[in-house]
Amino acid sequence: MTRVLLIEDNASNRRLLGDHLRRGGYQVTEASTADEGLALAFAGDFRLVVMDIQLPGMDGLTATRLLRQNPLTRAVRILAVTAHAMKGDEARILAAGCHAYVAKPIDYKQFLSSVAALLASAGEGEAGEA
Ligand code: MN
Repeated sequence: MTRVLLIEDNASNRRLLGDHLRRGGYQVTEASTADEGLALAFAGDFRLVVMDIQLPGMDGLTATRLLRQNPLTRAVRILAVTAHAMKGDEARILAAGCHAYVAKPIDYKQFLSSVAALLASAGEGEAGEA
């Protein structure tokens, strides 16, 4: 079963996102802070992280940079979830190392297809990297 790490501080969003992922056939581990999520990510074997950008304490963009910088997690796909879908945000999110993002309110059909697309693309473009 494909393992997905869900980092989201809002309990009802976390439950909704988690339920959709589980119904989509993924094995989901949940975290409510970036620190908790990073510890799980470095210790676990996740294929994809669903990363809320607005988190208390360390935000999702900082957590994404740390995941991408660490050899243990640099290949993990990262799907950002954000309340901000304004011009310029996409560039900022992608520059931090997220592979894609979905904006709240979440369209769950689109969310699950983004998850599937990112997992399908995993491994591509890694060969040439140092
Ligand atoms: Mn949040």
